[in-house]
Amino acid sequence: MPRVLLITGGAGGIGAAMAHRFAATGGRVLVADIDEETGRAVASAVGGLFVRTDVSNEDDNRRAVEAAISEFGGLDLVHLNAGTGGAGGAGDDFDLSRYRRTLAVNLDGTMFGLRAALPALAAHGGGAVVVTASLAGLGPATFDPVYSATKHAIVGLVRSLAPAWSDAGITINAICPGFVDTQMITGLQPLITAGGLAVATPDEVAAAVESLASSGVTGEAWTIQAGTPPTRFPFPAIDLPKAR
Ligand code: NAD
Repeated sequence: MPRVLLITGGAGGIGAAMAHRFAATGGRVLVADIDEETGRAVASAVGGLFVRTDVSNEDDNRRAVEAAISEFGGLDLVHLNAGTGGAGGAGDDFDLSRYRRTLAVNLDGTMFGLRAALPALAAHGGGAVVVTASLAGLGPATFDPVYSATKHAIVGLVRSLAPAWSDAGITINAICPGFVDTQMITGLQPLITAGGLAVATPDEVAAAVESLASSGVTGEAWTIQAGTPPTRFPFPAIDLPKAR
């Protein structure tokens, strides 16, 4: 089990559950979030450290990684979990600023987080990265097409980058939850209830992240849905032979 966790979106439902779960086994936690008040509260509750981080800013990502290493003497697990949505569709409901924000947080935030974390993990002998994607990153989500597009992008990014870092002792995987009981689905609750859809607890997702991080696999996307064991997304890589 890794000993130092950096979690982005650590003030939110899944992030806070992960922080609590990790700290409960004696791990040290750096909570990185744009929400200072809640982020500090989560960090304080788990005896961890809060670093105000806008994941869409590359320097912020670097500062969070540096703080984890300088404060805790290393870094073992990086959970790139911050996310947002709500840009609407391609008609009158399209919201340009939400569109830019969704791409910046979900896609830039993941790329910048990886760029900050991977060299640092490599320099400290390896570790694990888990990115929170979504079931909406493996199939269509008609209620939020732009969100779904960014989550597909994250799954492709993670699975495509992973092999290049395995020699450095780093695994990179994506967790793809269905609906999870957090603030993010508040507006969808009536439809979720009407559809009789399963809703996982944030801790179920955190448990799956722990399993994925300690499994030793890399370049995989695991789905997690309420009451169902994690399932590996099956499509294989499009590969070229290695250059001699
Ligand atoms: P949440 O809204 O409770 O948490 C999201 C967190 O991300 C918040 O703490 C927020 O402050 C933080 N955040 C937003 N923008 C940020 C930024 N620019 N920089 C740093 N932090 C930022 O929702 P959640 O459900 O816990 O979401 C966590 C992740 O899980 C997200 O990536 C989300 O897309 C994903 N997810 C959620 C569900 C669900 O049904 N709740 C399903 C699948 C995937």
